[in-house]
Amino acid sequence: MKKVVVDLKICLKAGQCYYLQPTIFKADPQGWPDILIEFPEEDDDVEAAEDAAEICPSGAITIEDA
Ligand code: SF4
Repeated sequence: MKKVVVDLKICLKAGQCYYLQPTIFKADPQGWPDILIEFPEEDDDVEAAEDAAEICPSGAITIEDA
């Protein structure tokens, strides 16, 4: 199983994750990313999470084995 992890200590609140992958992330009122699907099971959701990890400008998103 995969787990989506965001390191808020290095997140820049740039927003690419929630703008480009809104099924996995959403902005909280302060602009920080909330994770909507922390343990993606569907292939599409895993792919979307991996895409977000690639486009995140600060490298704050990692997809780990859970
Ligand atoms: S794309 Fe990366 S830096 Fe931007 S809000 Fe998401 S986690 Fe933070």
